[in-house]
Amino acid sequence: MRSIEHWIGGASVTGTEYATVHQPATGQPQARVAVGGPAEVDLAVAAAVRAQESWGEMSLSRRTKVLFRMRDLVERHEDDLARLVTAEHGKTVEDARGEVIRGREVIEFACGIPQLLKGAYSDQVSTGVDSYSLRAPLGVCAGVTPFNFPVMVPMWMHPVAIACGNTFVLKPSERDPSASNLVAQLYADAGLPDGVFNVVHGGRAAVDALLDHRDVQAVSFVGSTPVARYVHGRASANGKRVQALGGAKNHAVVLPDADLADAARQITAAAYGSAGQRCMAISAVVAVGSTGDELVQLLGREAATVVVGPGDQEHAQMGPLVTSEARDRVIAAVGAAQQAGATVVVDGRELRVAGHDGGYFVGPCLLDQVTPQMSAYQEEIFGPVLVVLRAQTLDEAIGIINANPYGNGTALFTSGGAAARRFVRGVTVGMIGVNVPLPVPMAYHSFGGWKASLFGDTHVHGPEGVAFYTRGKVVTSRWPGRAEASRSDFHFPTAS
Ligand code: NAD
Repeated sequence: MRSIEHWIGGASVTGTEYATVHQPATGQPQARVAVGGPAEVDLAVAAAVRAQESWGEMSLSRRTKVLFRMRDLVERHEDDLARLVTAEHGKTVEDARGEVIRGREVIEFACGIPQLLKGAYSDQVSTGVDSYSLRAPLGVCAGVTPFNFPVMVPMWMHPVAIACGNTFVLKPSERDPSASNLVAQLYADAGLPDGVFNVVHGGRAAVDALLDHRDVQAVSFVGSTPVARYVHGRASANGKRVQALGGAKNHAVVLPDADLADAARQITAAAYGSAGQRCMAISAVVAVGSTGDELVQLLGREAATVVVGPGDQEHAQMGPLVTSEARDRVIAAVGAAQQAGATVVVDGRELRVAGHDGGYFVGPCLLDQVTPQMSAYQEEIFGPVLVVLRAQTLDEAIGIINANPYGNGTALFTSGGAAARRFVRGVTVGMIGVNVPLPVPMAYHSFGGWKASLFGDTHVHGPEGVAFYTRGKVVTSRWPGRAEASRSDFHFPTAS
């Protein structure tokens, strides 16, 4: 079976233990991945510490040359990366290409690092005294990433960290690890010095070793809320800078003045694309006023037409879930909702894909008459399940969203500007769409949620990413001429 090894100091490092990587569309084992622990993390961090000494000193111009080459290589290998993602994650190739493109855009953003790291200069802040600010790299940064975007989510982190003069240790998801090794190879081909980008595979033991390692300065995490909370707590207690992005329950609010047919199409794609395994997937609809029955009918019609199949099949719109456990969890969540009184309008639990009996497929599920008290609403199902709640007014809908523990993304469907403005200002959510179902910010803005969707203060990529991976310095300087009388002040310095 194919082996996926660690990548440390510019070379493949053979594992001592391995876990199996399955093909979600068939349920068959397809590769084995090394499972690292403290020993591999020590090796990787030591390589990153050594590399950082010279990489941090490298001119901005030389750093950006590597990033420009990396950008081109990722574009050239878009299909290779996408197919690796499809084979191990299960999403369609077209969808996987989308994540490679969104990841590449972060590299493009990082290519502008000379502009982004420009400090500020104040001339003559006091007589003969100037002041300027600059941003310095942190050292070794670590990234721990989820299964659902094995190319894009790590790329939210490492291009920015590396451009800022840091070195990086990535611990990708053990479910779909191959793309990270191809990315490491592309960095090497782009001329990135050995040790600047390292990959340690594995699970909790490798993560804990990173969180506890004295030479790791900062940790970026993306994954489920319980693990995000844990990572944030443990790394913070160890004195590290941490950004930990967690799970989500993203609401689409539909007002009576919306184009309902358009809203139903948009919401369907955002709910079931990638089998609902996106942190920005719409998983709850709040139908306002009189829209409920007609909207449910339209959503049901759309859900029934979604083409489910293996991700490499040309016309498939939605692939399988990532593991058999994920499939079983989704099926159980729909059953529990039904028992709690929800109406199952579209039921994908029994879906079978011809020739793929062992695959982890579940078809689109649409649940109506869901209330905020039901577990199908309260919990992140992370599968192709869309629940519909009803509200009488926009304010009631905003109240539902704000009472939810998560605050990643949300969308409003309306034709009214005043309602849209009220919604944007009123919701306690980090990323908001107006007639846009998946409001994923571009690379030059920052991505992140509120409440239980983010632990820490900074969002990823964009200006907040640069701030996260650098520390500020402010310099106050004076160059007295020989003829000037030297005078020392014992009072606290004030400008003169
Ligand atoms: P996960 O939390 O199970 O795993 C994420 C990472 O943490 C993996 O690398 C995994 O190996 C590691 N890990 C798992 N358990 C751990 C533990 N107990 N201690 C230390 N490390 C541990 O998440 P997942 O199932 O891979 O991904 C899906 C989740 O990620 C969903 O909740 C989704 O909403 C979330 N997500 C959030 C965002 C966002 O931007 N907020 C983006 C993508 C995914």
